[in-house]
Amino acid sequence: MASLNENQKFWARVTELARQSIGKQAYDFFIEPAQLMSVEQDTANILLDSGMKKDYWKKQSDLITTAGFEVFGRMIDYELYANDELTELELHRLNNQSSIEEQPHSTAKPASPLVSGLNEKYNFENFVQGPGNRWTLAAAIAVADKPGDTYNPLFIYGGAGLGKTHLMHAIGNQILTDNPTARIKYVSSENFVNDYVNATRKNQMENFENTYRNLDLLLLDDVQFFSDKEGTKNEFFNTFNALYDKGSQIVLTSDRIPQELNNLEDRLVSRFSWGLTTDITAPDYETRMAILLFKSESSRLEFPSETLSYIAGQIDSNVRELEGALNRVEFVARANGIAVVDIETASQALRSLKNATQQSLSNLTIKKIQDEVANYYHISFSDLVGPKRPKEIAFPRQIAMYLVRELLGTSLPAIGTAFGGRDHTTVMYAYKQISDKMKNDMDVQKDIDSIKRKF
Ligand code: ADP
Ligand code: MG
Repeated sequence: MASLNENQKFWARVTELARQSIGKQAYDFFIEPAQLMSVEQDTANILLDSGMKKDYWKKQSDLITTAGFEVFGRMIDYELYANDELTELELHRLNNQSSIEEQPHSTAKPASPLVSGLNEKYNFENFVQGPGNRWTLAAAIAVADKPGDTYNPLFIYGGAGLGKTHLMHAIGNQILTDNPTARIKYVSSENFVNDYVNATRKNQMENFENTYRNLDLLLLDDVQFFSDKEGTKNEFFNTFNALYDKGSQIVLTSDRIPQELNNLEDRLVSRFSWGLTTDITAPDYETRMAILLFKSESSRLEFPSETLSYIAGQIDSNVRELEGALNRVEFVARANGIAVVDIETASQALRSLKNATQQSLSNLTIKKIQDEVANYYHISFSDLVGPKRPKEIAFPRQIAMYLVRELLGTSLPAIGTAFGGRDHTTVMYAYKQISDKMKNDMDVQKDIDSIKRKF
């Protein structure tokens, strides 16, 4: 394929020759709105804004041949496409091979072809499986295999940086590979709202609905950020129904379960549970190791397993941070000309990273932890530190004590005092209880994770 510049030169030459040989009216009508999409194997693919203009263009072979010899030094043929009569397949092909960044001559914008928003970087092959994501991965693969059939909608929830968005793109990419004409759209909830607001403002609701209601697959990310404005919510509801009714697949993600989405109405939330709701939890040590092994394979440096193990031990919250840590270590190693990354280098690199998190923890207080925990479990502060002992209160209390010890390193007696004058043995017991649960109870891990993220 020719380089970008040559293509642009070629097209500039075509239009220049046209300008010289035909009248302004005809030029403006026939030539100006046309776009060069690509030049492949000596054929220029030209997109017209209307099929009725093809006959005119067929008679312009001189322009193409002349410009072709001038710019490429060989015979260039051409193929005409029209925006109003493209098959989905052609549209997709043209869309993906469009090799001209800007079309300086086309001011008239033909109806814009569908932009999927998919990121090819994320697929199933580079998603590492572990106990925290196994079921969700299985569900995602099932959905990609038979969209609209098995789990519809698929609702994925879990903390930040655990791979929700990755899996969404993986589903989209897989479906597109199996069926290149599938109409797919990945969009964050914020952008869905923006699209809607812009469409109403510009009076382009028809366009908006054409785009969103004719999809085969809608991937709507982070629905907790969906605006709670009536209009947008209503549009979302109608979009959801339209897609669902025609059997299109819908995949949603959120940082919480549907029932906790206070920004959306019950009628919508209840629809989310028509399909499958599945969660992703933080990766355990083995999974973190597997992810680091996988990601470090593509590095030019060597990472001995004890170094990876060290990193996996330092970062236990989420995969995004884990990746960040690995990149940071790699960066520091490179900067120091180190080819085999030892623990010393890793620890040096991660020290500054730790300082940054400690910064955010530096204004954390016992009171703040207590407040967040009480808030999280929907109990009052006075119950949290008071004498009551039913499980709904005793458990959050233990969690809060654990977090104070873990995050602030406060002494056991001081923690006892802060929790209504309890004995330090009570605190010790609480700490041990929760530490044990942190090893094998996913619900507790998730709770702690969610609370920590609030600080
Ligand atoms: P979320 O949407 O849940 O906040 P992302 O999907 O954006 O998280 O994931 C954050 C980063 O971590 C991405 O670069 C993603 O590729 C990576 N990642 C997350 N989980 C995994 C996994 N299981 N295997 C490989 N990479 C992962
Ligand atoms: Mg995400």
